[in-house]
Amino acid sequence: MKKLYFMLGLILLLMIVGCGEEALEPAVGQGADETNQQEEENANDDNHESEEEENKEDKNEENAGSNDDEEVNEDKDNEAEQEEPEKEEVKEPQYKMNDVWYIKPIDKADPNAVLLTIDDAPDGHALEMAATLKEYNAPAIFFVNGIFMDSEEGKKVVKELYDMGFEIGNHTYSHKNLRDLSQEKQHEEIMSVSKLIEEVTGEKPKFFRAPHGANTDYARKLVKEQGMLLMNWSYGYDFMQGYMEKEALEEIMVNAPGLGKGANLLMHDREWTNAALPAILEGLKEKGYGFIDPDLIETPMDSME
Ligand SMILES: [Zn+2]
Repeated sequence: MKKLYFMLGLILLLMIVGCGEEALEPAVGQGADETNQQEEENANDDNHESEEEENKEDKNEENAGSNDDEEVNEDKDNEAEQEEPEKEEVKEPQYKMNDVWYIKPIDKADPNAVLLTIDDAPDGHALEMAATLKEYNAPAIFFVNGIFMDSEEGKKVVKELYDMGFEIGNHTYSHKNLRDLSQEKQHEEIMSVSKLIEEVTGEKPKFFRAPHGANTDYARKLVKEQGMLLMNWSYGYDFMQGYMEKEALEEIMVNAPGLGKGANLLMHDREWTNAALPAILEGLKEKGYGFIDPDLIETPMDSME
C-alpha cells in the first residue's frame, strides 16, 4: 500500500513539475512572439539575432531593421537585373510616338530624350557608327535595306549591329518610292526585308520607315498588320545640300528648330554623318538630352503578343 501511495505521489509530483514546465513555456513563447512581432513591424523580415541582443538593442533595432530591409530589397533588384538578359523578358513600353513622329513618355519615363535613327544601312559606316553610339551609351534604330543584306558581309554586319543591342528596322528592299509601286510590289519591298531581318537576327523587325518618308495607305496597313510601328522623323539634314559635310552637320543637328523633347532624329549610313556623330552625341548630351531605347517604344506588336 505504502508503495502504491509513493508511486501515486511520485506521479503527482511529476505532473506538477510537468505542469510547471509547461506553465513556463507560454511566458517564453509570449516573449518570443512579442519579439517576433516587433521584428515584423521593424524589419518585416526574418531576423536571426539572439533574443539577448534584441533586448539589449531595442531602439537601435528599428534602424537596423529598416536597413536590413533595404539591403534585402537591393539584393532582389540585383538578382532581377542579372536574370533579365537570360530570360529576354519583353520590356513594358514606356514611350509612345505621337502624330508628328515625336516620342513621348507614356507615364514616368524621362521626357528629355531623343530617338536616334540611322537609315540606308549597312552601307560601309554602320559598324563604326555603332561603336560611337556605344561609347555614348546611346541606343538607336538602324533602318536597313535589303540590297545591303544580299551579301554575306551585309548579313554579318546586321547581325553584329543586332548583337550589339541595336534595333534593326525595315527600310524596304531597294529604297524605291512606294508611291510609284503597285500594291504587289510594295508588299514585296516590305516583306522581303522583314524576312531577311528575321533570318539574320531571329527576330521580326518592330519599326518601319518608308524611303523618302513616302507612305501609302497600303503600306501603312501592311506594316501595322506585321506589328511594325511606321515612323518618319522630326528632322534630319545629312542628305541636304550644304549639310553633307562634318562641320555643318555637327552644328545643325544640335541646333535644329526641330530639336526638342522626344525628337526623332534622322541620320544616314554616310561618311560625313559617321564623322559628325561623336560631336552630335556630345552636343545633344550637353543640351541635357538622353537617348531613347527603341525597345521601350510602344509598337503594334505589343498588342499582338
Ligand atoms: Zn533612306
